[in-house]
Amino acid sequence: MMIRRRKTREISIGSVGVGGASGISIQSMTNIPTRDVAANVRQISELAECGCEIVRLAVTSLEDVKFLAAIGDVLRAQKIKIPLVADVHFSPIIAMHCLKVADKVRINAGNFSDKILGSQRFSDEEFTAGKRKLQEKLKSFFTLAKNENKPVRVGINYGSLAPRMVYKFENSDAAMWESAKECLEAADEVQFDSIVLSFKASDVQKMVTVNRFACSQMDKIGWNYPIHLGVTESGSGDYARTKSAAGIGVLLFDGIGDTIRVSLAEDPAKEIEVAKNILQACGIRRFSVELIACPSCGRTSFNIQAVLAEIKRAISEENTGKNLKIAVMGCVVNGLREAGNADFAIVGSSNGTLSIYQGNHCLLRNIPEMEICEKFLKILKNA
Ligand code: SF4
Repeated sequence: MMIRRRKTREISIGSVGVGGASGISIQSMTNIPTRDVAANVRQISELAECGCEIVRLAVTSLEDVKFLAAIGDVLRAQKIKIPLVADVHFSPIIAMHCLKVADKVRINAGNFSDKILGSQRFSDEEFTAGKRKLQEKLKSFFTLAKNENKPVRVGINYGSLAPRMVYKFENSDAAMWESAKECLEAADEVQFDSIVLSFKASDVQKMVTVNRFACSQMDKIGWNYPIHLGVTESGSGDYARTKSAAGIGVLLFDGIGDTIRVSLAEDPAKEIEVAKNILQACGIRRFSVELIACPSCGRTSFNIQAVLAEIKRAISEENTGKNLKIAVMGCVVNGLREAGNADFAIVGSSNGTLSIYQGNHCLLRNIPEMEICEKFLKILKNA
């Protein structure tokens, strides 16, 4: 199945392209205070090492802007070129300073100018005054971003919408979309278009529907801004991974999404592993061998879990077969047909031995379970 990606403009974040013909990039965020320069450098190097392509850091004060610059200097000295994104809330001044040192600045549409004060009532005049104030601040910020030639992510988060937006549009997709629209109108006024948008929520359905709604609205207007996807605050463990895979995966199949972040309350490096798995499972990017295996049942006459684990370990140790699809199947009943699309298949027989296929062609028959891994690796090396 070919995924038809929504056509977006390409934005350059340091050396990484987002949108347009660029591949869907993987990003993460450090989880230590930015003032700890050495620890951030260490964490960012580890992230870059395991495949992170863009990394974000929280910048909460003007002091932090200097620490961010220092982190960038050390990384560059170490020849680590991963783009650094400054994550700024509440302060247009800090965001403006970050434009000088970061490769991109992420702002939150809901708190760039509006104060988060809980539920309030707003007359039409007050709503319009809030919008005007936000747009004036944004125009100064976008003008500087344009002069500095730096891209901006405008993040719209369900949990931090401006109170006037929630008052007028309630907790709807429209509230998040209108929040983005105010920002994009301000950008249009100063002819700034180097923007990536994100619409995030911890609720998967909400995150999916708002992204679909916002993209359909943008398509009507002719705005082709790239989209950063993520299920925010998804938690940790299997359920967090499932939530991210569900939300991000559905939208990727819709053709929506130009860069992704899997948010986990864990070591950030774990986010990269999950992001890679999502992109590979959706058939978008390939990072490792594609192993398929049946769950096994009463027809399986060998230890499929042990064979699978051994093949996985051996392939990873030998660093081979990266572009291959390899199937491990319990029997020929469903196994052969399912394995037909794989480059190689290991299939069990009723007598407890296994056979190795290349496509539909049987290469080796009746191999004892103990010898299968060794024999299979030999075939892979000669393939
Ligand atoms: S492939 Fe064979 S062994 Fe595996 S689950 Fe299907 S029927 Fe059972």
